[in-house]
Amino acid sequence: MLNLVLFGPPGAGKGTQSEKLIRRYDLVHLSTGDLLRSQIAAGTELGLRAKQLMDQGLLVPDEVVIGMIDCKLRENQQAAGFIFDGFPRTVPQSEALDSLLVEYNTQITTMVALVVEDEELIRRLLKRGETSGRPDDQDEVTARRRVSVYNRETIPVADYYNQQGKYIAIGGIGEIDMIFETICQQIEAVATKKA
Ligand code: AMP
Repeated sequence: MLNLVLFGPPGAGKGTQSEKLIRRYDLVHLSTGDLLRSQIAAGTELGLRAKQLMDQGLLVPDEVVIGMIDCKLRENQQAAGFIFDGFPRTVPQSEALDSLLVEYNTQITTMVALVVEDEELIRRLLKRGETSGRPDDQDEVTARRRVSVYNRETIPVADYYNQQGKYIAIGGIGEIDMIFETICQQIEAVATKKA
């Protein structure tokens, strides 16, 4: 199985690159942000509670997102692999993901981290807000809070995978297709080494 964690701050291009990666490698895309937004759209209790945190740019509790991922892994047992987008965002989420994957006799192949400097992220989030309709993309205070939550709570996840020798950093500024090809080269180098 090819199990990728696509990592990076909000606005780094994870969603865009995920779309291309799932097509090239036939992976199931698991974006906790998308899963939470569909709960909000469906008006569920979980969605209502998550929305209050999401709209402020804060993380929802670990057990909520871990539960959603657990459910999706169960539903997609025949998958060729997964791409985790926006998950894990904390070290406890990373530990929970590792344990869940053990249940399916698999593991994370590699983490690909998209690196983009903070001010460029703020510009991208506000630009995306012009069309995304996402409340958390609309104003600079929320955009900055999301970036600082990432720097404070999520960066340790990179160290977690680095310690496992599974961390690859890729510059996230430039042509989308060029970044995509760089990601693919790196993934294939890892897959060849493991084969
Ligand atoms: P995203 O679409 O990945 O930018 O996520 C949007 C928002 O959903 C985040 O700002 C968080 O409020 C929430 N969220 C998404 N994924 C997670 C996660 N793995 N852990 C905690 N909160 C999350």
